[in-house]
Amino acid sequence: MTRRRMIAGNWKLHKTVTEAVALVRDLRRLVSQVRDCDIVVAPPYTALYPVAKALEDSNIKLSAQEMFYEDKGAFTGAVSGAMLNEVGCAYTIVAHSERRQLFGETLESSNKRVKAAFKHGLIPIFCIGETLAERQANQTMQVVAAQLDAGIAGLDSATLKRLVVAYEPVWAIGTGVVASPQQAQEVHRMIRERLRAKDSGAAEVIPLLYGGSVKPDNAKELLAQADIDGALVGGASLEAEQFAAIVKARPSA
Ligand code: PEP
Repeated sequence: MTRRRMIAGNWKLHKTVTEAVALVRDLRRLVSQVRDCDIVVAPPYTALYPVAKALEDSNIKLSAQEMFYEDKGAFTGAVSGAMLNEVGCAYTIVAHSERRQLFGETLESSNKRVKAAFKHGLIPIFCIGETLAERQANQTMQVVAAQLDAGIAGLDSATLKRLVVAYEPVWAIGTGVVASPQQAQEVHRMIRERLRAKDSGAAEVIPLLYGGSVKPDNAKELLAQADIDGALVGGASLEAEQFAAIVKARPSA
């Protein structure tokens, strides 16, 4: 397989600077030997710079949780890609379902963010996923496909190849209800096929992460699926030992 594995931790609205630095000091010790997997943490904005310093010369990369698509201007509270790049981010999460549900992210604005992230040298971890009502109405595949198409619209092949996609069923996020490995694989396969129809080279290299109540005890089976290349982890990324255990649950290279 030519795809890199990735385990990314989305800390959401958790961790002061002091707590964040303590967490990554523990984490870097626990995963220092890992070479065959990209390990990424996404602290809140306030902790990005101190965490970048604490991660210097480590194998852990830094991500933002969100990024605005404009470069500068009268956008109170917003943070640009250039700002994130300068403090050491290599990635930014884009269109997490909490941003879609609570902060007005749309299909169109997700595409603007994906493009702006690339423009500033950041790799978007682009999130897509259906709600419980959409799954129950048998709309999972069409909803996820529409989110995917909208987010990657207008990307050239070389840019598309650098994308990371996270499939996160909304009903599995923070609920303790994990998608079964078969349910997750079914949607991941559809995403891979849809990417292949657009750009076969990109489909082979884009890591597809699963997210939604991933824990040390369910990670191994999820990560063993053919089209699941990694995980986007919320709650279990807030404890160094748990997050490290998920990294260690990846299939051997
Ligand atoms: C997430 O926030 O992206 C997530 C998957 O959260 P959790 O692991 O807590 O369900």
